[in-house]
Amino acid sequence: MTQETIFVGFGSNVGDRQELCDRAIALMNLLPLSQVTGVSSYYETEPVDPDGRLGCDWFYNGVVRLETTLSPTRLLDILQETERGLGRDETNRHGPRTMDIDILLYGQHHIDQKGLTIPHPRLHLRRFVLEPLVEVDPDYMHPTLHNSLKELLDKLDDTCKVTKLSMSPGETYPSPPACSIPPSV
Ligand code: ADP
Ligand code: MG
Repeated sequence: MTQETIFVGFGSNVGDRQELCDRAIALMNLLPLSQVTGVSSYYETEPVDPDGRLGCDWFYNGVVRLETTLSPTRLLDILQETERGLGRDETNRHGPRTMDIDILLYGQHHIDQKGLTIPHPRLHLRRFVLEPLVEVDPDYMHPTLHNSLKELLDKLDDTCKVTKLSMSPGETYPSPPACSIPPSV
């Protein structure tokens, strides 16, 4: 596999949301064949719960940029293990969730297979995804919409409230030192 720049989005709206996000980032620092090269601030986001039926707390959201030689499916497998490890209850997909992790972009690739769509199909519609993406890499090009992330945010018509928080990622659960990717053979 060649090395690719990828972006992963994460969100938590139950439990200690700050610690859960810190732990998700610490675990992404341990991904094999990968190196974290950027982490956004945390953003507090209104849940999509128009009737208040789900009783959701607001989300903490953020994004991580990585360099990786993991394949998209292997990456999804590991990130789903990470979600489960952080207590994600898969029987309650639309309710409160300790951790949701999505692959947003995988280089300039367009992938559409069972259980995996990249770019994430709702990335460009969500302020809570685009704001942290733009913080990390405003000029990165969306491979199918042919706009930079900054241009997509400028065009966005999403009125969901998103507030950038002041704490630094990793305050409650520092990440281990980054290890470098071994040279490809
Ligand atoms: P959402 O993140 O849209 O709120 P879920 O996390 O409940 O929804 O959806 C999980 C399912 O989405 C998984 O079964 C996974 O196979 C599928 N999926 C499709 N594309 C992606 C992607 N780019 N990143 C993560 N999961 C994805
Ligand atoms: Mg998800």
